[in-house]
Amino acid sequence: MVSKDYHMHCRFSTDSKAEPEAMCEAALAKGLTEICFTDHQDLGFDDPTWFRFDPDAYFHTLESVKKAYEGRLGVHIGVEIGLIPDDPRLAREAENLAKDYPWDFIIGSTHQIPVETDGQINYIDPANPAEIERIWAHFATTEALLSVYYETVLKNLEQFDCFDALGHIDYISRYVPRMIRSAPRPLSPYRYEDYAAKIDDILKTAIRKGIAIEVNTGGLYKETKQTNPEDRIVRRYLALGGRKLSYGSDAHRPEHVGFGFETLPDYEAMRL
Ligand SMILES: [Zn+2]
Ligand SMILES: [Zn+2]
Repeated sequence: MVSKDYHMHCRFSTDSKAEPEAMCEAALAKGLTEICFTDHQDLGFDDPTWFRFDPDAYFHTLESVKKAYEGRLGVHIGVEIGLIPDDPRLAREAENLAKDYPWDFIIGSTHQIPVETDGQINYIDPANPAEIERIWAHFATTEALLSVYYETVLKNLEQFDCFDALGHIDYISRYVPRMIRSAPRPLSPYRYEDYAAKIDDILKTAIRKGIAIEVNTGGLYKETKQTNPEDRIVRRYLALGGRKLSYGSDAHRPEHVGFGFETLPDYEAMRL
């Protein structure tokens, strides 16, 4: 079983109330040997208090947690940066955030997609149910939405060099069933095959840049009951010669730490 969970959130993320110690206790109960906290720092949200934390306070707290668990559980201090492409100011902000602190591990994630209204581009998060109406007002089809999503992932991967692993590549797929149910017109479902060429570009770029692909088990406790990226994409990455995988539960609560790790295929044994 994978014994290192390198993607989890605690109360430093605005969408988690978990105490870091509770996450550590859950990791020990699950038999994990190492964890890495990767709280959210998302760039470019309309409300600047969303998905941001004070890195000094974060390090101060987690350094003492790390010390308290020494010898029992490896505790690492990382961050999940939510990326936005085509914006030099945000790019600088991300690069500075990455280099100004001694992060053990940085995940680069695409949470938001560009939506242009009245000549202005806004980035919106498909995980937010309140945005569904705006998304389908802008995108005519599932294909239009997903194409833009994967193009945004590729742009982020090409434009940023400040992260170790590309988080949950097909993140949006977790929310597509719900988005389609709430759409004002019938829409076709999401299928990996329809975007295989775009996803290949992402995988090949990650390999070229030496950036790891994250196997995120967060989808296993959501509606789709699949990892992100789904198994076929992980296998495709390995078949293309990719060798760097990281594993994370995306837990925001103790009960999800290491979720589903025992069910994962032995990807390490499949590496070329
Ligand atoms: Zn979160
Ligand atoms: Zn994420």
